[in-house]
Amino acid sequence: MKNTDTGEWVPPGKNCGACGASTCEEFVLMLAGGKKEKPDCPFYRESPDLNNPPESILTANYGVRDIHGDPFDFILHPLPGEPSARKIVLPFRPDMTEKLEIKKGDLVLGRPTGAGCPVQHVLSVIEADYLTGLLTCHVVSPLLAREKGDEVKSISAYHIIGFEGVAQTINKEPEFGRRQKFLPGFCMMNLAHTGVVNMVFENSYGIHTRVEDIRIW
Ligand code: SF4
Repeated sequence: MKNTDTGEWVPPGKNCGACGASTCEEFVLMLAGGKKEKPDCPFYRESPDLNNPPESILTANYGVRDIHGDPFDFILHPLPGEPSARKIVLPFRPDMTEKLEIKKGDLVLGRPTGAGCPVQHVLSVIEADYLTGLLTCHVVSPLLAREKGDEVKSISAYHIIGFEGVAQTINKEPEFGRRQKFLPGFCMMNLAHTGVVNMVFENSYGIHTRVEDIRIW
């Protein structure tokens, strides 16, 4: 099937000629005429479908220790069909959740400054609570934020309140009421986190687990 409909995607305006057109504008015309396909531009990326994450995300392999050699009790994977373990965050200014009118489907940018994490995260909002300011999100690719540009809402700095996902036991299975050491899947730092396990139940797909009061170990 031809991949010629630009949809919401627009070439980046680099006019580098790598696609065979002399400018991005010409490339768009060639797309419309069926003479080019979007992947002919090396800057084109398919947007991930958050409802159908690729198999590679769901079957990713992790080590059993963090970068300091500390072993994980468990690794938290996404719930079935989701792109990441759910992350519950609280902006340093919780009133911004309502002021920015953050809602389901929005992309939010910020750094988990409260936990001391140096990495900016792009979050796709599942639920926004205007009473507390809490946002329940998936962690998604920075590419999505680049594509959405001005539509991304910045909360700048936030506390990590909790994670929810499916636990893969490494050293100790999640136990209700205990502070345990775990890796939220896709943590780019590969650092052990700790948190209090406050929900565990066995399901057909594994051990559905929620952890709150998050610190980096
Ligand atoms: S390769 Fe992409 S960025 Fe370069 S001119 Fe073609 S459309 Fe523009």
